[in-house]
Amino acid sequence: MPKLLDIITNPDPTLRLRSKKVEKNEVGRKSFKTLCEDMTQTMLKKDGVGLAAPQIGKNIRLIVVNTKQGVISMINPRLTKKSWAKEWGVEGCLSVPATFGEVRRHTGVSCEYLDIEGREQCLDAKGLLARVLQHEIDHLDGVLFIDKAKNIKYE
Ligand code: ZN
Repeated sequence: MPKLLDIITNPDPTLRLRSKKVEKNEVGRKSFKTLCEDMTQTMLKKDGVGLAAPQIGKNIRLIVVNTKQGVISMINPRLTKKSWAKEWGVEGCLSVPATFGEVRRHTGVSCEYLDIEGREQCLDAKGLLARVLQHEIDHLDGVLFIDKAKNIKYE
């Protein structure tokens, strides 16, 4: 059974570090799969649309994202294409509780990553999913949405 992980919140310094790449031999390990399952479970239970490993205290380049096709784990994700067009949209974050703000993001992105089996994959995303990918990859570089947001509101 996957277990719920504790979510680290701002201003914990862990959220501000640049995360390290996951080694390919790491990916096949049972403990790594368990981590992906635990992160997925944690994200779903907290009604998140994405979760990055630094948010559960691990500074490695791993995110889980909720897509229409289900949850995917993305290892060493990198944006290889970004649309010229950008748009403002409201964001929140499990690591910045009860806070919302508008962030300007690319409307479309392509993201290359390794899947849970260690295979190279590429995902083309638009709209909300593109936004989630940019938000989660920012976490891997120690960036929080409040660094970029305007009209920040607290609830
Ligand atoms: Zn976040």
